[in-house]
Amino acid sequence: MAINYVCRHCRTFLGSIRRSDAAEIRLGLHSLTPAERRDIIAYDSDGEVTVKVTCDYCKQALDNNPELSLLASPLQ
Ligand SMILES: [Zn+2]
Repeated sequence: MAINYVCRHCRTFLGSIRRSDAAEIRLGLHSLTPAERRDIIAYDSDGEVTVKVTCDYCKQALDNNPELSLLASPLQ
């Protein structure tokens, strides 16, 4: 059981943490609205949790080209 972090844009695997270490992360996610949670957090049948984030590379690309985010969203 782990929480996996994956870039929502390029799907790069960014890392994973054991669930027992997740309290801190959950606090971070606590500020999200329910709709944002559904968008960002996915639970699979094995009990694994995938959190979709934006990696540094994509963040930089989006900062430089904000219109890219409009292109990426329909693919989600
Ligand atoms: Zn990325």
